[in-house]
Amino acid sequence: MKTPFVTKEKVQEIMKAYPTPFHIYDEKGIRENARNLNKAFSWNKGFKEYFAVKATPNPYILKILKEEGCGVDCSSLTELMMSECCGFKGDEIMFSSNVTPEEDYLKARELGAYINLDDFTHIEYLDKLCGIPETICCRYNPGGKFSIATKIMDNPGDAKYGFTHEQIIEGFKILKAKGAKYFGLHAFLASNTVTNEYYPKLARILFELAVEIKEKTGVEFKFINLSGGVGIAYEPDKAQNDIFAIGEGVHKAFDEILVPAGMGDVAIFTELGRYMLAPYGHLITEVKHFKHTYKEYAGVDACACNLMRPAMYGAYHHITVLGKEDKPCDHKYDVTGGLCENNDKFAIDRMLPELEIGDILCIHDTGAHGFSMGYNYNGKLRSAELLLKEDGDVQLIRRAETPADYFATFDFTGIMDKYLNK
Ligand SMILES: *Cc1c(COP(=O)(O)O)cnc(C)c1O
Repeated sequence: MKTPFVTKEKVQEIMKAYPTPFHIYDEKGIRENARNLNKAFSWNKGFKEYFAVKATPNPYILKILKEEGCGVDCSSLTELMMSECCGFKGDEIMFSSNVTPEEDYLKARELGAYINLDDFTHIEYLDKLCGIPETICCRYNPGGKFSIATKIMDNPGDAKYGFTHEQIIEGFKILKAKGAKYFGLHAFLASNTVTNEYYPKLARILFELAVEIKEKTGVEFKFINLSGGVGIAYEPDKAQNDIFAIGEGVHKAFDEILVPAGMGDVAIFTELGRYMLAPYGHLITEVKHFKHTYKEYAGVDACACNLMRPAMYGAYHHITVLGKEDKPCDHKYDVTGGLCENNDKFAIDRMLPELEIGDILCIHDTGAHGFSMGYNYNGKLRSAELLLKEDGDVQLIRRAETPADYFATFDFTGIMDKYLNK
């Protein structure tokens, strides 16, 4: 079962001020979830979640997470700039980038962020650019396939990220020789995992590697960063991850591997994005058209520019027809947006209650990698983002784009001035 955090009446009231489509986020859900994560890892003294900004890059969301004790994980200049403006600094920022431009490293250094190097060659690159900071982290890629029990979860050997085993040992030796004092270790081996075993298994790999690196190089680890990848079940009939079981699984690995090696003071970091926000966002859209050809189509006022995951990955997003929660799902539809792209479908052959023009659809689990993956194809404009506050009020946290925003990068030519509010 997936239950929307807004009712039809509430949405109708919101629509008087903010027309569909829009993304809306649930502050209460975000805070409770963040508190549970912190509780699940409270056995570790230095635990900190660094929210992956790319999942939901909105300063209002970042500030809520900051109040809940989270830091931020950035991978670009603008993510660093947004984090800076939200008051994050120093050890509240992880910088986990790849193919990193010079200006991004310089900004990360200026803010005193923890820099997580993606590649062996970046040691030299960073050193020449601005020197090696006192604390430095490296990203590991074990290669091969990553499986849990017999199930292949992902394919690190094909992924562009991280140092090989040989490189990471050599890398830490060099970093130490260059004067770094404190060290971190990071890996991201599988995305959107819906199993309580992912983090514990990853933790074992990283903990064993940390012990090996310490023995071979004398490096002292300050933190181990389990990165993102803890997922959510997008399907209503699938069980969700249990963050307390996940926290305990990592705790057990910590006690079995790090504590006996004299490394019981290492801090555990996470860089979750999806797990922190996905369930606490809805994309709200209205049914505008029907089309009866070889299939039954319901056309809505949102499109893949507002939520790319179904078009890009064939991802399932559950849909609730607001006000028709108790009606039988006895009609089959393709729910489509208006892009000139046949993959612009939020659902294919989806069983829903009978739809009418004006029905309001709630597309679930759009709080992470939703708005942020949006784009402007076909000249479609990005929607507003709203926050449902704990007291029930609704706050605009990003206005919808206007044609003037879309044409703004022609402001030097004069050709589009008619639409540039000049
Ligand atoms: C994308 C990303 C994350 C967050 O991933 P989720 O699947 O949203 O948890 C964390 N760290 C890095 C380096 C990433 O690229």
